[in-house]
Amino acid sequence: MFKFFKRSPNRAEKQKETNTLCVLPWNHLFIDVKGHFTQCCYRSSYEPFKDINGDIIRADQPDAVERYLESPKLQRIKKKMLSGERPQECSNCYAKEACGNESYRTLSNIEFKKTLENIQEGKKPTIEYLDLRPGNICNLKCRMCGPESSVLTIPEASILANDDNRFLNYQSVNWHKSTTFIENILRHAKTLKKLHFAGGEPFIIPQVKNIINDLSQDPIAKEITLSFNTNLTVLPTSLAKNFSDFKEVNIFVSLDGTQEVNDYIRYPSRFKDIELNLMQLEKKFKEWRIGEVRVHTAISIYNIFNLPSLYKYLSRYKRVSNVPDIDLVNYPEELSIKVLPKKLKDKVNKYYEKELLPNLKDKGQIHYMLNEMASEDCSHLLPSFVTRTKLMDEKRCQNFKKTIPELAGLMQ
Ligand code: SF4
Repeated sequence: MFKFFKRSPNRAEKQKETNTLCVLPWNHLFIDVKGHFTQCCYRSSYEPFKDINGDIIRADQPDAVERYLESPKLQRIKKKMLSGERPQECSNCYAKEACGNESYRTLSNIEFKKTLENIQEGKKPTIEYLDLRPGNICNLKCRMCGPESSVLTIPEASILANDDNRFLNYQSVNWHKSTTFIENILRHAKTLKKLHFAGGEPFIIPQVKNIINDLSQDPIAKEITLSFNTNLTVLPTSLAKNFSDFKEVNIFVSLDGTQEVNDYIRYPSRFKDIELNLMQLEKKFKEWRIGEVRVHTAISIYNIFNLPSLYKYLSRYKRVSNVPDIDLVNYPEELSIKVLPKKLKDKVNKYYEKELLPNLKDKGQIHYMLNEMASEDCSHLLPSFVTRTKLMDEKRCQNFKKTIPELAGLMQ
């Protein structure tokens, strides 16, 4: 999980950040939706790590964690970092930093400062941070999601790819149901400080509940900060009753707009259900040991004109963060705001100048978003945008022009 705008490091922290080291290849396990290991979720290569025999490691295999920790690629990444080189697999972070931004690397190094010092002194850190994607079961099929995130997207993705077989391997992802996976995780939980779940939708995946239930009965839970990426269409109290056994719980809610704009993108969610659950979280902050509830918003063509409304909407909350953390949709490419024609980009800029920027204390992420939009002309992808949008509108009985009237002209 990565957020680049949440907190800026102070000058002293920045000065420490001069090398190529990252704590995560030492203290972290990232397991993706197929049960494969890579060094973290922000990797530039999705190629799964292989063990010393050249076999792909999967989290439901015996000794999977040990085989990952000994894997040649992980060893090579660590060796390069220690010798001041930049492993190619981490180029996403270094590219982000080269533009003057915080990266997952710099933020992780600050978060695990002591561990970083230990690595620099040649000590061997333990596993402190687990980031799990236990399968692609989800109750939504968001417009920018693919089969790796939600099994429900497979029929439409297959039509768009014109290939019925392309996504068959995402049809029944079962590795996370294995008891060996749970045992592998629990065996390495003794030193954990942070446990993050995404999906799929973690609040409806039974194995998430099982892991949390098992850990909650162990005194180690008091040392662990739990976190979730969730669509918050459901908030199971049977899961939440275990939250108070942990040190803290952080909830990152994916919300891509207000009312019908969110429901158009994140089909078939109902904004009013999410709103009820946000209100429930506000009430339960203390009881459930909630540290923070933040809203994550994936900006695409669909919601570029709605973001100011979302800022306004969130201002009513006392404990839920009032400012959404913005991520830009780059895939599918045709949904990126870079695809808008120049005339509409000008319209977006004017709209933000009038409706949002004058009221914001911290304008950083909005400037970043608008600069990104201007950085490239991808309007040649408009026909793909129209094809994708029309197909999904038809299959879902939705209406782009009615929901996003500011951009109705795109569908002519
Ligand atoms: S440098 Fe970036 S990509 Fe590499 S392990 Fe660290 S956070 Fe992940």
